Amino acid sequence: MRCPTCGTENAAGRAQCVRCGTRLRPTAARGPVARSAAGSAEAEAVLMAGLRRDLRRLAVVAVVVVAVAAVLGALLR
Ligand SMILES: [Zn+2]
Repeated sequence: MRCPTCGTENAAGRAQCVRCGTRLRPTAARGPVARSAAGSAEAEAVLMAGLRRDLRRLAVVAVVVVAVAAVLGALLR
């Protein structure tokens, strides 16, 4: 494909112009964007896993608090 900056013909699939280093459209536009999208999806998955872990811990704490409150309530009655 032809470089839009200097007009040098580059081999198809090249991300950058061999002469001036300009990023060439199709691969340059699709590559990094797709990669960053995958990265953000990965980060989101990690975030959701952490959130789920926190929620489970919170649920366990809530159950313990309710159980202790119930026991204390029964003892104080
Ligand atoms: Zn060029």
